[in-house]
Amino acid sequence: MLRIQNFIDGAYADSASGRRFDKFSPVDNSLIASVTEAGAPEVDAAVAAARRALAGEWGRLSVPERADLLHGVADEITRRMEDFVAAEMADTGQPRHVMTHAFIPRGAANFKVFADVVRNVPTEAFQMATPDGAGAINYALRRPKGVIAVIAPWNAPFMLMTWKVGPALACGNTVVVKPSEETPMTTALLGEVMNAVGVPKGVFNVVHGFGPASAGEMLTRHDGVDAITFTGETGTGTAIMKAAAEGIRDVSFELGGKNAGIVFADCDFDKAVDGIFRSAFLNTGQVCLGTERVYVERPIFERFVAALKAKAEAVRYGRPQDHDSDYGPLISQEHRQKVLSYYRKAVEEGANVVTGGGVPEMPGDLAAGNWVQPTIWTGLPETAAVIQEEIFGPCCHIRPFDSETEAVTLANASRYGLATTIWTTNLGRAHRVAAAIEVGIVWVNSWFLRDLRTAFGGSKRSGIGREGGVHSLEFYTETSNVCIKL
Ligand code: NAD
Repeated sequence: MLRIQNFIDGAYADSASGRRFDKFSPVDNSLIASVTEAGAPEVDAAVAAARRALAGEWGRLSVPERADLLHGVADEITRRMEDFVAAEMADTGQPRHVMTHAFIPRGAANFKVFADVVRNVPTEAFQMATPDGAGAINYALRRPKGVIAVIAPWNAPFMLMTWKVGPALACGNTVVVKPSEETPMTTALLGEVMNAVGVPKGVFNVVHGFGPASAGEMLTRHDGVDAITFTGETGTGTAIMKAAAEGIRDVSFELGGKNAGIVFADCDFDKAVDGIFRSAFLNTGQVCLGTERVYVERPIFERFVAALKAKAEAVRYGRPQDHDSDYGPLISQEHRQKVLSYYRKAVEEGANVVTGGGVPEMPGDLAAGNWVQPTIWTGLPETAAVIQEEIFGPCCHIRPFDSETEAVTLANASRYGLATTIWTTNLGRAHRVAAAIEVGIVWVNSWFLRDLRTAFGGSKRSGIGREGGVHSLEFYTETSNVCIKL
């Protein structure tokens, strides 16, 4: 069985306590790995290694040298693509094509894109007048913030972890990463890549474990950590923000969502059905940007519901390695219980179950896996729990609307503000609705299309700050203004 260790100061090691935890396959709940659980000594050692590295060779590299090294990291990930794909499939149970086409290549791109951003970003400069007529020049210096704690979730583990590690390192910081306890494998593997490429020891460190009273909380409370970047649930964000208040540490938060899809009658119907289908059911609905609330203009409502139902009923369950499979299990038994509790709640609240609502019959070993059916509801009031709360499963509620204003009002009636996808062929309407929606990310006639140079993040309870392109520099660097009197 695979044994997963911490990666501290360039070396893999178990924790001094000898504590370990089990990692089970989402596909059939067989035991697939034993993971060391970091305690206070390992978190201390990782933070200390990261601080030493800041003052060492890493801190003396020029921006182009650092950028070249990070290109090397990306190239090595690409060279070892099969290892990363296999590890992420084992951890998440999600289909191979999702890994090979999206999640792992995006992990490599996260190093290249931010290396290039930092290499090319200009600095600001202002000339100013002074009473003696000689003037002064101001210019901005960007310095790394220091040791960054990266706390990552399990739903697209490698892509979301590198989305933070890439810019943090590009800006000259060092990192201590705490991957999700559900998905330790690809983060563990990245240590091998760092060593192979020659990234100095201590620049990239990994501690494994859980959140409260474990490695996650120890790391976010550690006074050697200068800033915390976190992707995960809004409730966890609240706990981390409290920890960050000690020492006034900066936070960047990418949190939960309860995203709306708005489908106008003038849309390209087939593309809209495909787009909403992907946004509701890709990764078995475990996508922060996923659509759990769908609003469809009344003239096409019935036809739309029928078309989405047909697609949901045609998903092909299976192991990630099966070329035919396009739909995986949920991450854990615990998460399946949560999703199924919402399936029950929807019925209690009076939903019309268009399709799904339960557990599929799976053959052989797969019967023990965390499978649930893709589920569609109609007929609920907007106050229903399954319309207000993030479920993070393969399900959505569809409701008809009669006007653009009503659609915008419905979409905005949420505590969350992460993403919205709008389907229309009316250009003016696309711009109007995009401007009126209170979210960080709006897609028109698309979903999940990402240019990594653009701002990414949520408003309301979906996050704090924006990452992506130059926006990441705001979080991962400190700006000092230098004023020179001439
Ligand atoms: P989670 O909040 O349960 O866990 C995320 C990470 O935080 C894990 O590594 C966990 O061990 C750690 N953690 C938990 N409690 C902690 C604490 N008190 N202190 C420090 N660390 C702690 O989230 P999850 O279940 O892994 O991921 C799913 C959630 O992530 C969903 O809400 C989803 O919407 C959100 N998400 C958001 C984005 C985004 O970009 N906005 C992207 C992906 C996922």
